This record gives sequence, C-alpha cells and structure tokens, in this order.
Amino acid sequence: MNQEPSTSAENPETQGEKKEEDQDLRLVDPFVDFECDICHMKEKSLFGDLKGSDGFYPAPVFFMRDPFAPPVRVKTRKPMLADFMVIGSTCSLCDRVICFDKACSTFFGSYFCASCIVRERRRFPDKVLEMLSKAQASIQKEEKKEVK
Ligand SMILES: [Zn+2]
Ligand SMILES: [Zn+2]
Repeated sequence: MNQEPSTSAENPETQGEKKEEDQDLRLVDPFVDFECDICHMKEKSLFGDLKGSDGFYPAPVFFMRDPFAPPVRVKTRKPMLADFMVIGSTCSLCDRVICFDKACSTFFGSYFCASCIVRERRRFPDKVLEMLSKAQASIQKEEKKEVK
C-alpha cells in the first residue's frame, strides 16, 4: 500500500498549493468496481500491474489482498503473489473486463474472454476450446439445477 507522505511540517508558504494537490490525491479511490462482462460477478478491487517477490502477472489485473490471509506486517518479507487474490483482467483482444472463471476467460499467452476465443477459435488449440466449452457446460447445468 502506498502511504502518503505527511506534509504538516513543510514550508507554510507553499502549503496552500500543496494542500490542494494532496486533497486531489486523496479523492482518488484506489479501489475500482470490478464487474465481469460475462458472468457479471461484482467486486471492489484494486487494478494494476501486480508483482510479487516470486513472480508477476503479464498484464494489469484486478486484485485484492487475500482476505483469508493474515495481514503482512513483517517488513523484511516482500509480498508474494499468493498474498493477493487475483479476480480478473481485461481481454487482450477486445479489452472487456473478465473474471478468471474458466467459463469467462482463458490464459493463453495473455488473457482472452470467452467470446473472443469462440470467435477466433481457429487461433486457439483444441485443448483451450475444450476446456472452455466444458466450463460453460457445467455452468449451464448448475443454472438448471437452481431452477428446479
Ligand atoms: Zn466472469
Ligand atoms: Zn475479448
């Protein structure tokens, strides 16, 4: 998390201007409203490049701190990717917001939404298409169960 530097002990002559800047910064809510464009899963999350000491995501992702993990207070320990819960990204073809549910998106070099995979099916191996249709079929089954 970024911590804003305190400006209280600074030169009073420049404080007027500085204050306004600080307020603007504070108005920027670090959380964005994530909504999957396919399944409409909604979540408040952070968005951006995510790097840990053990790796990084190849594209900007929607993520949050894992709510089930204890807060990391040990300064000597750098955050790992496992400290975050990554919920989605954007499709590298059509730019729509997608969650990482297997029925909504697939990672194949970069992230693709289900619609682009189906539309560009010739560019993807059968395995990817199979996984996607399986995931979508199991969702349809679940929906039918709910109706009963
Ligand atoms: Zn989704
Ligand atoms: Zn797409």
